[in-house]
Amino acid sequence: MAIRVINEKCIGCGMCVKTCPFDAIDMINKKAVIKDNCTVCGACVDACPVDAIVKDESKRQGMDISKYEGVWVFAEQRDGEVLNVAIELLGEGRKLADKRGVELTAVLLGKGIDNVAEELVKYGADKVLYVDNELLEVYTTDGYTKVISELINDRKPEIMLIGATTIGRDLGPRLSARLGTGLTADCTRLEIDEEDGKLLQTRPAFGGNLMATIITPDHRPQMSTVRPGVMEKAHYNEDANGKVETLAVDLTEADIKAKVEECIKSEKEEVALEEAPIIVAGGRGVGNEKGFEVIEKLAHKLGGVVGSSRAAVDAGWIEHPHQVGQTGKTVRPKLYIACGISGAIQHLAGMQSSDCIVAINKNADAPIFKVADYGIVGDLYEVIPALIEALDKVDDIMEAFKAASK
Ligand code: FAD
Ligand code: SF4
Ligand code: SF4
Repeated sequence: MAIRVINEKCIGCGMCVKTCPFDAIDMINKKAVIKDNCTVCGACVDACPVDAIVKDESKRQGMDISKYEGVWVFAEQRDGEVLNVAIELLGEGRKLADKRGVELTAVLLGKGIDNVAEELVKYGADKVLYVDNELLEVYTTDGYTKVISELINDRKPEIMLIGATTIGRDLGPRLSARLGTGLTADCTRLEIDEEDGKLLQTRPAFGGNLMATIITPDHRPQMSTVRPGVMEKAHYNEDANGKVETLAVDLTEADIKAKVEECIKSEKEEVALEEAPIIVAGGRGVGNEKGFEVIEKLAHKLGGVVGSSRAAVDAGWIEHPHQVGQTGKTVRPKLYIACGISGAIQHLAGMQSSDCIVAINKNADAPIFKVADYGIVGDLYEVIPALIEALDKVDDIMEAFKAASK
């Protein structure tokens, strides 16, 4: 698509020059001339009082998008275990596929993991494209990009969803560049446009201060990476029917430039925030590193894990894997207790889908109280010990009750 000036109509008023946010229009001999740095934003089209600027659809460089059909999900697995985010994508993919009236396909790459392929069917995939090859046992950018891009070129899905994991964030851009299509990274909402069936891909923009909805009008597939923990997981149904298609591919060692010599797992214990049903999170209000001990105590008492705001991470009181929010993890536990966290939009972006939010903050006007189901106005160093004491009492009562009923 391009922007074109109809010279016969242009009256040289200069409105478009003033409107263009990219300084992409010159006035030459009293006629508007579009420069190379035009982004096709369309602002000048609306600004021209005599309709002398048009979007030239004939210059669309897109492909024949009518040939593309179906929703695909990249079923990321590690050591033969499918990641939660892939199950979340199957849940979301199912909704999108049903709206479009098309098949939901899971794409699984690995070695000797037929059982995972079957599991994906139980999670709702109509079809699983399973590529079984020893060169795909461990993820490599070259190997996975080659195989998946060839599959896409061959079968032409209209939508391709990938989890925004470390691997997904590597694979997504490589695929989109190879296929010549767009990619919307880190989506938090996906919908089908009721009017034209296009995928509406929503993600936070400008530091999380607004949500941008992005479309891929002229190219296919419409590709998105989606943050783990944002979408609801697909339900497991033992009786679900689907087809597993095992594919052989033409892949040699020469196709893979980087060789994986060894996989060494991090010795640090993974903070399983995305999986945790209970999270107790601390923010700048905790005051110092030692203060996180009280947060840990409450988390331990409740059988939960410790989360944090970015301010606490930036202060060096706790490590980044604990951070919740736009640049941290997205979580949706059953219970989220925010202690000394103000409730900045970037923090809320990572936790506001929690089932029940409890906020402890000494400022009654803190924005966190707007999203909290229960709010406690007070000093966390008084409130948390009181909570732990109350929980201890409940434990004692339960013990006594059990002993009495024996
Ligand atoms: P503050 O905003 O300083 O709030 C501290 C709160 O503690 C206050 O409300 C205060 O009343 C309360 N308090 C103080 N003492 C006590 C006490 N003794 N008892 C009870 N309450 C007390 N932030 C994130 O959290 N996650 C992100 O992923 C993230 N990503 C970002 C990305 C970008 C691009 C940008 C620009 C910012 C991002 N931020 C993120 C930062 C975010 O904007 C806020 O600065 C941050 O969340 C503030 O952390 P806080 O609530 O702990 O601190
Ligand atoms: Fe400027 Fe946008 Fe018009 Fe291009 S389409 S000339 S960038 S206002
Ligand atoms: Fe010409 Fe329209 Fe631009 Fe005015 S706004 S200079 S009429 S193209």
